[in-house]
Amino acid sequence: MIRENIKKLRSGISAVCFAEGAQAHPLPVIVAVSKGRTPEEIEEAVEAGITDIGENRVREAIVKFDHLRRLTAEKNVRWHMVGHLQTNKAKEAVKIFDLIQSLDSLHLAEEIDRQAARISKVQDVLAQVNVSAEAGKFGFEPKNTLEAVKEISRLKNIRIKGLMAIAPVVRDPQEARPYFKRLRELRDEIFERNDFSPANHERRITNGEPPVLSMGMSGDFEAAVKEGSNMIRIGRAIFNHTHQG
Ligand SMILES: *Cc1c(COP(=O)(O)O)cnc(C)c1O
Repeated sequence: MIRENIKKLRSGISAVCFAEGAQAHPLPVIVAVSKGRTPEEIEEAVEAGITDIGENRVREAIVKFDHLRRLTAEKNVRWHMVGHLQTNKAKEAVKIFDLIQSLDSLHLAEEIDRQAARISKVQDVLAQVNVSAEAGKFGFEPKNTLEAVKEISRLKNIRIKGLMAIAPVVRDPQEARPYFKRLRELRDEIFERNDFSPANHERRITNGEPPVLSMGMSGDFEAAVKEGSNMIRIGRAIFNHTHQG
């Protein structure tokens, strides 16, 4: 089932990327979000070609990571933290995650930096942006994100690779497009047009790769890819037995 779901997902992505004959959009990285799923289900996804696994709780992720150490090493699986990270869990998080996508405060950035330094690691992160500026949602406000990224980029044991956002739940995924567009514009403004921290720009900010734009989930990835997403986070469309697309 998982294998078929992934196949279907890939053809859905291709349909968007190769619309009108030419490749209009680059193929995004698929992060399979496996919260609530078993190590066996994750293994099945990896056997079907998934290379990136997302979790939203540190404790749950550690248990699965321990189960799947060998597979992770053999297949070069990357582990992503996509849920809100409490400061007191930063120490555990830096041990297992390749990319922390949910960096949402300077306080947390400082703690990640401190914990990464202790294990001589440079932790890759994305700044989470509250694109809809909804109260009670995690992430930097769009208007504060540039300033936050500047601050974060000064930390030696953090490398900020791009931005992440969760679009608000809407009835028609097309309605999410303005939020995705907003995040892309912010990414371009911050990482491509902005000239801050020039000495560290290449090494710390993008490392020569295009900055990550992590947006799009099972219900809205097509709209996100059309707006330039290069990393989508997919749970239900991969792991559900009944997901209809
Ligand atoms: C659960 C989750 C996803 C995946 O959502 P689906 O709708 O199941 O595809 C993506 N991003 C985050 C932050 C999540 O918590």
